[in-house]
Amino acid sequence: MDQGSGTGAMVKTVIVGGGLMGLATAQALVERGEQVTVVEARDDVALETSFGNAGMMTPSMGDPWNGPGVHRHLAASLFNPLSPMKLRLRALPSLTTWGIRFLRNSARDRHLAATEANFRLGSYSVEETRGLRERLGLAYDAADRGTILAAYRRLAQRLGYSNVEIAALRREAGCPMEPLKLFLLEESRRGRAVLSLGDWSVSSEETRGGAVELFGRPHLLVRLDSE
Ligand SMILES: Cc1cc2nc3c(=O)[nH]c(=O)nc-3n(C[C@H](O)[C@H](O)[C@H](O)COP(=O)(O)OP(=O)(O)OC[C@H]3O[C@@H](n4cnc5c(N)ncnc54)[C@H](O)[C@@H]3O)c2cc1C
Repeated sequence: MDQGSGTGAMVKTVIVGGGLMGLATAQALVERGEQVTVVEARDDVALETSFGNAGMMTPSMGDPWNGPGVHRHLAASLFNPLSPMKLRLRALPSLTTWGIRFLRNSARDRHLAATEANFRLGSYSVEETRGLRERLGLAYDAADRGTILAAYRRLAQRLGYSNVEIAALRREAGCPMEPLKLFLLEESRRGRAVLSLGDWSVSSEETRGGAVELFGRPHLLVRLDSE
């Protein structure tokens, strides 16, 4: 499949594979006015991994699997055939270089930095997808603000309050705290979240761990605009 300005002109870029990555790259290049050819082995595009895509874009779930303490899970997985992350003895020699980097990056500060970088990349991807949807007039069942909003709605309904503790929202959504805080700050900037102080003096350690610093003061509660 060929796209781009001019016909019969020299192909400048050849992309091997018409999955999500190949097609998104091709679209970006075509929008820049470049000539692109996508080469796909199958009869049509997006019939391999991209076929199974569940369509979720969740920047809040970008924490890498090699979290602090992952070495303990890996060691235990040697003896647990049902472990979700499975290390096999016979794979160890081939994993030496990669494995050392994997473990090194599980240090708390590196893992946090990677989580934040993934969050920013995920947020950028969501924005880009939104733009692409509008530019190409794509119509599908798109729901915005995904898992965190769903978790917020469940929690607010269960508790009967619209101001919920940020720490409780983290627990409900099952996502790491730092990306959640970044998300809430961004939502607040857009006018879609209202952060409030809450009562610090009677709050638990967990609740305080969810505090979002705003104008130099720690805010414990959030109300999301759930429309
Ligand atoms: C069940 C499932 C659910 C998922 N859900 C989500 C989700 O909710 N959110 C999310 O962000 N990600 C999700 N993913 C992951 C996401 O779908 C993949 O990361 C993404 O589709 C990978 O795209 P890709 O273009 O790299 O690979 P692919 O889609 O596999 O594309 C590669 C293409 O290259 C072609 N190809 C390979 N070799 C050649 C060759 N030599 N010559 C020509 N063509 C070739 C293949 O035929 C294929 O079409 C999910 C994945 C699965 C399996």
